[in-house]
Parts: sequence; C-alpha cells; structure tokens
Amino acid sequence: MVNNSVRPARSRTVLAILNQPSATAEPHEADAEPFAFVDAARPQLSVLDLGATRGDGIFETISVSSGHPQALDHHLRRFSRSASTLELPEPDTDVWRAAILAAIAALDAAPEAWVKTVMTRGVEGDGRPTGWVYAAHSPDYSRARIEGVRVVMLDRGYRHDVQQSSPWLLAGAKTLSYAINRSVLREAARRGADDVIFVSSDGYVLEGPTSTVVYRRGTRLLSPGTGLGILDGTTQATVFRYAESVGLTTGFELATPEVLRAADAAWLVSSVRLAAPIRALDGQSVPVDADLSAGINGFLRQLTD
Ligand code: PLP
Repeated sequence: MVNNSVRPARSRTVLAILNQPSATAEPHEADAEPFAFVDAARPQLSVLDLGATRGDGIFETISVSSGHPQALDHHLRRFSRSASTLELPEPDTDVWRAAILAAIAALDAAPEAWVKTVMTRGVEGDGRPTGWVYAAHSPDYSRARIEGVRVVMLDRGYRHDVQQSSPWLLAGAKTLSYAINRSVLREAARRGADDVIFVSSDGYVLEGPTSTVVYRRGTRLLSPGTGLGILDGTTQATVFRYAESVGLTTGFELATPEVLRAADAAWLVSSVRLAAPIRALDGQSVPVDADLSAGINGFLRQLTD
C-alpha cells in the first residue's frame, strides 16, 4: 500500500516523492513504499540537492486531458534518454508511471492539467537521485491557441551539429538548466514578442525554449527534426499523426529563417499549451491557418493516451 496519509481525498495540486527513482540506486528508506504523497505546500527538498544548486537533473512536463496523461510512453522514453545523456541512474519507468497515474487520480477533476516529473542527481555526495511527481491544473491557454503568439528568432550561439560535436553540452536532453530558456522570454518581451525560436549560430531554425517548431508548406507539415541539439517533441509527433490523418504529408528538414518566413503557416507546439499559431515573426505579420490550428488543438485535447 502506498502511504497516502497526507493526500487529501482530491486536491488542486498533488506531490508524490519517489523512494527509489532508479532501481540501480539505493532507496531513500529501506522497505518504504515506492512513492508517498506529501504536502505540496511544504518544503520537501534539501538545500544541498544538486537539482537546486547546479540544475543537475532532468524533467518532463506531461499534458493531462480529462484525466488522461498524453503521450506518456514517449515522455518516459525521453526521460530515460535524458538520464542517459546526463549519466544519471536509469529511471525506474514502472515506478514513475505508477506515481504519475496516482498523482493524476488524486488531482481534482479538470478539463486540462499537467504533471511534471523531476529527477535530480540528489544531495551532493549521497549517490541517490531525488525524484518527484507534481500535478496541477493548467492555466487557460485558449488565447495563445486561437489568436496566436508573436515570436522573435534569437541566436542560440551553437552550431546545428552541436549534439555531435560537443555532447558534453547536453543539447537535446531535457535538463533542469532552463535559466536560458527563461531569459530569452524576457528578451522577447523587450522586443514586443511573446515567445522565441532559437536559431543555430550557422543559421538554422532549431526550437522554442519550451516548444517545437512546426510549419506548413502547401500540403506538407514540416519540422526541423532531431539531431540538431533540440528536443524530440512529443507534441510534434502527435501533431504529425493528426496531419497524416487529414491528408497532409509530414517530414523533417533543415530550415533557415527565410524558409520559416515563407511558410504558409507555422506553430510552436508543446505539452500543456499545445499548438500556438505564430502570428508574427521578428515583428512582421505572418499567415495563420486558423482551421488547421483548431483541428490540431481539438485532436490534442481529445487524446487519451
Ligand atoms: N523543446 C524544448 C526545449 C522544450 O522544453 C519542450 C517542452 O517543454 C519542447 C521542445 C516540446 O516538447 P513536448 O512537445 O514534448 O512538450
């Protein structure tokens, strides 16, 4: 039995701490349950945790639609891949999955919610990773989904082949080191925009700070693809599935900012916010495909796996 003594019958936020986030590392408590619910409003993390002091850890953020986690297998695969890139102990996927499902079950019913999984390298010198699952209701993103977002393109400062040339930079892993992914939003705001697309130092479109770039050219839906030091987007994969079901072809290509500017429509797609059509690029209006946006977001909202 899981200790759920501090879990309210239902709650607007839920936090579960894993006792043994990886089967290859020691548990935090011998013979304890795999995870326990704790009070999300109370401090739970050591000030010596490397996740807090160095951003040394990984995470996933998963959409929950009408109580169903979306693309859960894909998220868990990416979580394991990020762990491997950071040379962290391999996450025990069964325990993580159970904790995610239990956290969702303990959350007040809501049309849209999200779950975040975090695994850090743990307290310095201890050798055991720290892991938790946090669930909460989503904010209302209907404005971004319908009206769209204004985007600026910013140089990321790395070449598009950084993942191959400098694997120690951890490009393409979903690490906790997101201070840059936040600072670019402040730069976007200074430039009168809502969001950002990173461009490689050698001039290729990469990704948003929390999203994947997808664009339509005629009957083709395209994305920059992996191998460019960018995340393998779970939402992009689902969007491609939807696009193929409505007769579009899909593919990946190296794209320059000019290619993106010339697209018939473009989106930033991600878990939780889903598909946000891009309505301006570097201060210039660009076309929005309202029908396809509505189709994509409708499909993403109704996903039950
Ligand atoms: N790229 C980055 C850097 C991200 O942080 C995210 C999500 O947070 C994505 C892409 C989109 O990934 P997903 O669709 O799996 O949420």
